[in-house]
Amino acid sequence: MNIHEYQAKELLREFGVPVPEGAVAMTPAEAEEAARDLPKGGVVVKAQIHAGGRGKGGGVKLAQSASETKQIASEILGMNLKTHQTGPEGKRVRKVYVEAASEIEHEYYLAVLLDRAEEKLAIIASTEGGMDIEEVAAKTPEKIITVTVPTPDTLPDYVVRRVGYGLGFDTDQVKKLGGVLAGLYRLFVECDASLAEINPLVMTPLGDLLALDAKLNFDDNALYRHPAVSAMRDPDEEDPRERAANEIDLAYVGLDGDIGCMVNGAGLAMATLDMIQYCGGSPANFLDAGGGADKEKVKEAFKLILNDENVRAILVNIFGGIVRCDLIAEGVVAAAQEMGVEVPLVVRLQGTNAIAGRKILTESGLDITSAETLEEAGEKAVAAARGGKA
Ligand code: ADP
Ligand code: MG
Repeated sequence: MNIHEYQAKELLREFGVPVPEGAVAMTPAEAEEAARDLPKGGVVVKAQIHAGGRGKGGGVKLAQSASETKQIASEILGMNLKTHQTGPEGKRVRKVYVEAASEIEHEYYLAVLLDRAEEKLAIIASTEGGMDIEEVAAKTPEKIITVTVPTPDTLPDYVVRRVGYGLGFDTDQVKKLGGVLAGLYRLFVECDASLAEINPLVMTPLGDLLALDAKLNFDDNALYRHPAVSAMRDPDEEDPRERAANEIDLAYVGLDGDIGCMVNGAGLAMATLDMIQYCGGSPANFLDAGGGADKEKVKEAFKLILNDENVRAILVNIFGGIVRCDLIAEGVVAAAQEMGVEVPLVVRLQGTNAIAGRKILTESGLDITSAETLEEAGEKAVAAARGGKA
């Protein structure tokens, strides 16, 4: 799960990482009031969306007064912000963060993440902060410092020193970095984060370190242990398809292709996506209807696919091991009768009660193309999505 910058900063503050003073606002009037409560000096108005690159996209702006804050907030609130992370459709801005402007001597990058190859936590840092870190890593990999942490329960001093001296800090600055890193690291571990990133971490002209931007991701499987973090979920930021799937407890991941997939078993679902790609198509979703799916759940799952306006063809690929093919067929027919199916439907049923399942589908009057093998199913679905006959 992802949270907003203002929420991430609340957590950072709680864990002792220095952040500027600020408050979130939903309206221009609230933004003006928030600016009045800040200490004298400039104000930064920041669009709150679950995507980075806001600065370049026009979602981070400087104001010199409370009334200018109001003016800028009215421009940013409601805007459709496009950044390299939002995709071309952009994201609607519903909240802004109003924060004290900080003076900046230099911008650094600092993060704690899980290094999967090393099976350890790692600290990543760079003197090239404030910009797209993926680009820095691609173009000037020597500017990325990576130090792995030997055991997760403690952050040894030498790790802090290696990061700090790597950034060119003097002893005093390394000490300050130690404070920041200790808090960031403890937050990562105690809240079951999967990424804790500060970009930029700035050095002020007075030599203080301050987190000006923060991105925190959390492990969904551990959220039940952190009700306060869990409450930071913002449904407005989620893919509406995934939100609907979440509500019915369905293993669904929205993708950007046009072939809707209804499959049982995560392995078969992955193989189906691969097959679609292999045949030259592009899947609209990953969906594992599960082994224990009943008719109602299959119906809801199928409705979800029908509701996706990007879908130009549907591939139902079921291997009846635990699940029964007739039950899947009943769910598909029930959903189709309720909503109508306007796109071609390719179905492959194998295993338990496959014959009964096919019979239900044939008798339903739905226009179905059946397939025997996985490859045939993939080819037919891709052809159908392209508008040819499946
Ligand atoms: P994003 O990464 O989405 O572009 P940031 O929060 O990193 O958003 O803001 C972009 C840039 O704006 C930062 O790199 C920094 O230079 C500047 N900035 C952000 N917050 C402040 C602040 N409170 N004071 C001064 N400058 C800021
Ligand atoms: Mg940033």
